[in-house]
Amino acid sequence: MKDKIKGISLTWLSKVDLSNLNSGEGGSNYIDVKKFKANNIDYPYVSGQAMRHYIKSAIRRLGAEGCILNEKGEGCRDIQSCIICDLFGFMSPKAKSGAETRISPVKVSPAIGLYPLDENITVDFLTRKKYKGEKYIGDIVHVELAHNLYRCGISIDIRRVSAEEIPNSSEAKIELKEYGGIDQAKIRIKLLLRALLYLTEASKQSRLLTDFTPDFLVITFQKHFSNRIQKALSIQEYEKLDLVRFESIINDLKFDDNIIIVGMLPNTIREEQKIKKILEESDIPIFSPKKAIEESVKLLEKIEISR
Ligand SMILES: [Zn+2]
Repeated sequence: MKDKIKGISLTWLSKVDLSNLNSGEGGSNYIDVKKFKANNIDYPYVSGQAMRHYIKSAIRRLGAEGCILNEKGEGCRDIQSCIICDLFGFMSPKAKSGAETRISPVKVSPAIGLYPLDENITVDFLTRKKYKGEKYIGDIVHVELAHNLYRCGISIDIRRVSAEEIPNSSEAKIELKEYGGIDQAKIRIKLLLRALLYLTEASKQSRLLTDFTPDFLVITFQKHFSNRIQKALSIQEYEKLDLVRFESIINDLKFDDNIIIVGMLPNTIREEQKIKKILEESDIPIFSPKKAIEESVKLLEKIEISR
């Protein structure tokens, strides 16, 4: 490959059983599922902010040094030593000069539920005991729980990992300031990729134990930073991928000589043989989701990334 890799993009589907991964506004005795409307039908979603929180927690669980927010809601802002501030950026208000800001080189999508909510939901309840007067009284709290297939994605702007673009206004150009170089950037991107296999911090886990890691995963190593792959996975009906769209986007990305790796857990979606045929025709290897991430990590060690 002559051109250097400028971006890595991932999109994936994750099938979850009854869960309330991200609560809406609800009320004190009613915990709803965060939802949006499309064509006047409700669908559940998990906000991009919650997804970022889950990924950051997974990175720390892998043993990486990374700050948490202080009581003012600020991180350490040390790009050199903190993987969290490096990958996810920050915005910290500063007296007189506005804010100290780092735009996140890692972009995270909300996780979008692909099935209508009203066909896949129940309302459970739990009791919350309070001591009042001389006795305990029980409060009933209702919790919406939904089954769904979620689509999520991240996109990594490699040029700005462990580096920062600084505008030089006197010479009217942008300069790149390094905070650890390409070797450190690769180490951090590898941790980020592996963290996607360990997303365990979603809400309500004490009662609902959800596996929210990728079941069907497409990873692209791209010569141009773009988010095109995020539109590859859409559902036509229950467990049925829109294969025409999938093939069209895969072909466009292959046309640009990007490298594509796929991970697939059997029986996540129907028509697996047709999906395999589309991928084999484009010489795209298919692994399990775990192996696909490990193959991406190996590839990242070998390739040249762009600065
Ligand atoms: Zn930090």
